[in-house]
Amino acid sequence: MLVEVALPLPIPRTFTYRVPGGTALPGTRVRVVFGKRKLMGWIVAPATGDGGGDPAKIRDVDALLESQPSITTDVLDLCRWLSDYYVLPLGQVLKTAVPAVLSGGVGIDAPSKTRRVLRLTRELLTLGEREEVFGRAQRQRELFELLENTGGSADAAHLVSQLGFSHVIINGLVSRGVAEIAEERVDRDPFSAMPTALHPSFTLTDAQRDAVRVLSNATRGKEGNQPILLRGVTGSGKTLVYIELLKEVVQRQGRGAIVLVPEIALTPQTVARFRAVFGDVIAVLHSALSEGERFDAWRMLREGEKRIAIGARSAVFAPVRDLGAIVIDEEHEASYKQSESPRYHARELAIIRAQLTGAVCLLGSATPALESWHNAKAGKYKLLELPVRVEGRPLPPVEVVDLRRKDANVKVAAALNPNASLSPRLVELIWDRLGKNEQTILLLNRRGYATFVQCRSCGEVWHCPNCNVSLTFHRGRKRLVCHYCLHEESPPSVCPRCMSQDISFKGVGTEQVEREVIETFPQARIARMDVDTTSAKWAHHDILGRVERGEVDILLGTQMIAKGLDFPGVTLVGVVNADVAMNLPDFRASERTFQLLTQVAGRAGRGEKGGAVIVQTSLPNHYAIKCALEHDYIGFAEREIEDRKGPRYPPHLRLSNIIISGTEERATIAEVEKAAAYVNGVIASNRWPVTLTGPAPAPIDRIRGRWRWHFLLRSESAKAMGLVLRSLQYRYEFKAGPAELRLVMDRDPVSLL
Ligand SMILES: [Zn+2]
Ligand SMILES: [Zn+2]
Repeated sequence: MLVEVALPLPIPRTFTYRVPGGTALPGTRVRVVFGKRKLMGWIVAPATGDGGGDPAKIRDVDALLESQPSITTDVLDLCRWLSDYYVLPLGQVLKTAVPAVLSGGVGIDAPSKTRRVLRLTRELLTLGEREEVFGRAQRQRELFELLENTGGSADAAHLVSQLGFSHVIINGLVSRGVAEIAEERVDRDPFSAMPTALHPSFTLTDAQRDAVRVLSNATRGKEGNQPILLRGVTGSGKTLVYIELLKEVVQRQGRGAIVLVPEIALTPQTVARFRAVFGDVIAVLHSALSEGERFDAWRMLREGEKRIAIGARSAVFAPVRDLGAIVIDEEHEASYKQSESPRYHARELAIIRAQLTGAVCLLGSATPALESWHNAKAGKYKLLELPVRVEGRPLPPVEVVDLRRKDANVKVAAALNPNASLSPRLVELIWDRLGKNEQTILLLNRRGYATFVQCRSCGEVWHCPNCNVSLTFHRGRKRLVCHYCLHEESPPSVCPRCMSQDISFKGVGTEQVEREVIETFPQARIARMDVDTTSAKWAHHDILGRVERGEVDILLGTQMIAKGLDFPGVTLVGVVNADVAMNLPDFRASERTFQLLTQVAGRAGRGEKGGAVIVQTSLPNHYAIKCALEHDYIGFAEREIEDRKGPRYPPHLRLSNIIISGTEERATIAEVEKAAAYVNGVIASNRWPVTLTGPAPAPIDRIRGRWRWHFLLRSESAKAMGLVLRSLQYRYEFKAGPAELRLVMDRDPVSLL
C-alpha cells in the first residue's frame, strides 16, 4: 500500500512511501528514511498516484510507530485547515496537535516527585509585629514578604538561584521561627483537593433558560450550525449556561465536549464548577502538568475514558470522541492567539472543528472581541444575550477619580506623599471595607516598582542594551530588569552621561503600590499577584485560595486578577491607573482598555453585599473609559467599529503583519524592502485585492539584540490574503544570511507590538 507522509520540514508537500504487507490509517505516526536521515511523520492519506516516478524507488516506511492513529480524523482535517490558512507545511502543524512525548520532543520521564520549599509557619499581621521580629534584618523581611506574596511557600532552589537570597537569609527566617524547610509533592493535582460543591441551589434566570433552550436545540441540529455568541454581563451566570449545555451533550446524549479557558492557572473556580457537575469524566489539561501526565490525560480522552477536555488554547486539538460541543470562555482574550509558530487563533480553530464535526460552538464573553460582535451583527453568528446579573443584583456603580484635578483633597494627599498613587477617595473606601471585614481588589497593569529610571539633570533614561525599551526597577530584588529579554543590571547611583547623582525612579508599578498599601493600611492582610509573585507552579492557585477563604483583605495585581474570578466578599474594586494600556501604539489599545476595565469592575459586588468601583484616570472623557463606567458594551463597540474605518482595521478587513528581524540593522532593512517589493510585485501582477503599508520599524524596533521591521497587508478577501502569504512563504527566496534574518508572518494579529 502506498501512502502520503507529512514530514516536519519547511516544504509544502507530502512524500510517498510504501507500507509493506499491510495497511495503515491516516493519522498514524511513522518513521521514514528521508535522504540520509530518519524522520518522524504522519500518514495523512493513501497515495493518489504512483509517487510521481519509478515505483521501484519508493521506499518502505521504516517503522509504524503505533497500532492506531494518534491523530484522529477530525483533528487531521483541522490541521489541514490550519496548514492552509496560516500557510505552514502540514508536517510542522501536526507536531503541535499531539503531546510533546508523541512528537519526539521529549520522552515520558519520571520527574522527581518532591522538591524542597521554604514555607511560612507564622503570620505577622501588623507592621508592628514585623518590626519586632525582623528589626534591621531587611533582607529577611523581604524574603518573608515575598513568601506571603507567593502563597506562603516557594521553591528553595529558586529563591537562591533566581531571586538572590542566600542560605544565611533563608536560615535566618527558620531560626526566627517564622518559616520552615519542607519537602513538597510536585505535580499534585490542585483540582482534586478543591471543594467541588456547587452553589447549593439555583434557578435559571429567564435569559439563562432561553439561552439553554436554543443551545439544546442546536445540539440536535435544529438551529443550523452557526457559531453562537453568548454576550452576558459580568455576574450574569455564563458558566451555568455552559454547564447546562454540557449536561445535554455529555450526560443526555453521551457525546464529548471541549471547554477552552484563557489561562487555566487563573481559572480554578471555573474548573471546580465543571468538576462538581461532571466529576471523573473531565480531563484538565493544566499547563503545570508534566509531559507524562499530559500524555495520560490525552490518552484517556482518546480512548473515551474522559469525555470532557478543559484547558487553554491547545486543548482545541484534544482527541475528544464524538464531539458535541466546544465552549470558548472569555472569547475576547488575546491569549487564545499563539504568539509563536504556528500562530493560530484557538477561536478560529474551534469554529472550524465544530463545523467539521457538527458540534455546537459557543463563544462566551461580557466584552466580545469586535470581530465576533461584528460577525453576530452581520448574521454570521447567532447572538444570545444575558443582560442582567443573577438574582437581580445590580452592576456596581463606577466612580471616576480624575488624576489631573488639583483640588484641595488631592493637594493635601500630595503634600503628605508626593508619590501617592492611591487617591484620598480610594483610601477612604478601602478603610471602610477593612472596617466591615470586606475585601478589596486593586488593579494596576504594570509590574515592578518603577517602570523607568531617569537622570533628573540630563534626562537620560536607562534602556536595555538588547531591546529598545526602558528598564523596570524591581525594588525587592534591587535590580533593573528588561521585561522582554530578562536582562538585569544593578540600579545606577550616578549618571554615566553627566555624573549627576540625582536619579529618579518613575512610573508606578505593582510593587510600589504594594508598599504604599502596606504603609497606608498596616493591619491589612495583603496579597500581590503578578508575574513576579507567581513563578512557582501552583502560586496562582494558592493566592486565589487565600482570597477565597477570606484570608486576604486586599488583593493587588496586574490583569491576571481581572479574569473570571468570583469572590462574593469583594465589595470594592480600585483601578489605580486606567491609562496604562491606552497609550500603547496598537489599534486594539482602546478595546483592551475597555475590556480590562469592564472585566475588573465585574469582580465587585457579586455577593449580597453589593459593591463599588473606583477608576483613577487622566482620560475621563475617552470613550473607552466612559463606556466602561456606564457598563455600555454596545455603545463602545459601535463607536470603536466606526473609529476603525480610517485607517481601516479589523473587523472591516483582514490584516497580516509581516515582521523581518536580524542582528544587523542595515541587512534587516534591506531584506524588509526586498520582501515588500516582492509582495507588491505579486499583488500587482495578479491584481489581488490586497494593499501593503510600510515597511517601517516595528513599534518596539529592537528585542533581544535583533532589529525589527515590518509591513502590514490589508484585504477584505481572506482568499486573496492567503494567496499573497502563500507566495511569500513558499516562492519568495529568503536567506537567513550572516545577519541571521527571520521572516515571521502573523495572520490576524492580536497585537502589532
Ligand atoms: Zn545625567
Ligand atoms: Zn531587553
